[in-house]
Amino acid sequence: MSDEEIQDVIVVGAGLSGLTAAISLQQRGYSVRVLERRPVAGGLCGSTTIDGYQFTLGSNDFGSAIKRYLQQLGVDLEFEQNQTVFYCGREKYVLPATSRTVFDLLRHLPDTTRVGRALRNPDIGNKFDYVGQFLDATVRNKTFRDFLSLPSYVAGHSPAAHRFDLFRQIYSKNPDYGYHELCAPADGPQAITDAMTARFAELGGRIEFDTDVLDVRQTDDGKLVTTSQGTYRTKHLVSSEARTGNHSVRSSLEIGVLHIATRPDVPFPAGVHTVGYLPSGVQNWLGQLDDGVLPDQFGFHAFPCVTTEEYRSFNAYFYYPRGVEEFDSRTLATVEEYILKELARLIPGFGSRVLFRRSVSPAQFKKEHNLRRVSIEDILPLGVEKPSVHDKETDTYYVGNTVGPVAYHACAAMYAALDAADQLASANPLA
Ligand SMILES: Cc1cc2nc3c(=O)[nH]c(=O)nc-3n(C[C@H](O)[C@H](O)[C@H](O)COP(=O)(O)OP(=O)(O)OC[C@H]3O[C@@H](n4cnc5c(N)ncnc54)[C@H](O)[C@@H]3O)c2cc1C
Repeated sequence: MSDEEIQDVIVVGAGLSGLTAAISLQQRGYSVRVLERRPVAGGLCGSTTIDGYQFTLGSNDFGSAIKRYLQQLGVDLEFEQNQTVFYCGREKYVLPATSRTVFDLLRHLPDTTRVGRALRNPDIGNKFDYVGQFLDATVRNKTFRDFLSLPSYVAGHSPAAHRFDLFRQIYSKNPDYGYHELCAPADGPQAITDAMTARFAELGGRIEFDTDVLDVRQTDDGKLVTTSQGTYRTKHLVSSEARTGNHSVRSSLEIGVLHIATRPDVPFPAGVHTVGYLPSGVQNWLGQLDDGVLPDQFGFHAFPCVTTEEYRSFNAYFYYPRGVEEFDSRTLATVEEYILKELARLIPGFGSRVLFRRSVSPAQFKKEHNLRRVSIEDILPLGVEKPSVHDKETDTYYVGNTVGPVAYHACAAMYAALDAADQLASANPLA
């Protein structure tokens, strides 16, 4: 199919960032068309159904800034604020910090003081290039060191390779993504992109599904976009594809998912979204994974996806060793047993309620969901920052996690998309 009508804006991708830019521009009066290669919107923010059980696809817990961004877009959605619980060895850390957590941290007062100084004082902090160096020099207590490795675990990098300036920026309030008070819609992340898709349609925007953008050429009056379904013409282009630069990128470890369905009466703690387990020696086992080796003990985290009258579903995320995209059946069985055994230990009664389980490897994930890029966080070389949203050479506005300010999560992706929409609108005002 070819569409001769020239659009004001074509947006490549109907994930969180593409939809954010599309709604923002449609709100300002631009005619926007979104082209999406998959049959559904949402990208990594959606759900999937396996054997009749519904599971979350990727992102699941969001910084509170998402509520502000959605309000700005006219998207009305209720969020619940939940706790995260991480077990580090024999210690339990609850986030956001409760009075109990603060009390527990007092046990590590000398370490907490040194860490606070290094995070606040650039003269100290700037001495460290990588999180591993900072932890080794600053934190004496091994369990507390494990807990402070949590940002590296979440980023999918060994502390030895995780840039310390990025770690420090997590604690910065600029931009304030609100990841210190996590929230999620009660019905799961699919509700976010469903509400955004409905809002975009209400504003008169159109999404073409099963439409893979293959090539973009500059023409006299704009751009010619070639897709698997034909060509489109547009004055401006917004893309949620990765903006690649001249620098090498160190991708995160690839994530594996163990989907678990249990009976609905599973005793998962109320008010908690994520339960995580970091066995002792986080630097060591993350390092082994980074070296391509599966350690005997490794961390994982689990969270509920949906609750129905018949079942509750959960995802447990864990990392595959670097370079490994698929386990042989014996290794996979060992990994699944390990996760289920630890979950049953952390949540008494969990194990006896399991009805179904299926793991999805990084290779299967990409194949089944046609999502080609599943790095949790890319690390650029020291001193190099992510590029800005506007590529002057091709006059393309990029959105998502490869551009814009620090961090690789849903709120950073949406922030970049709002920035791209602002920049496009101010450089190209409607006549
Ligand atoms: C396993 C996992 C868990 C995560 N958990 C969290 C979390 O809990 N909280 C959080 O804040 N963040 C989380 N993230 C990060 C979050 O998912 C991303 O930041 C966010 O989804 C990025 O949105 P996006 O729209 O930029 O990209 P995507 O979600 O990847 O969407 C891009 C869309 O563009 C489409 N597309 C790309 N190229 C083309 C093309 N050429 N033609 C047509 N369509 C195209 C794709 O099909 C896709 O639908 C997680 C990431 C992963 C991988």
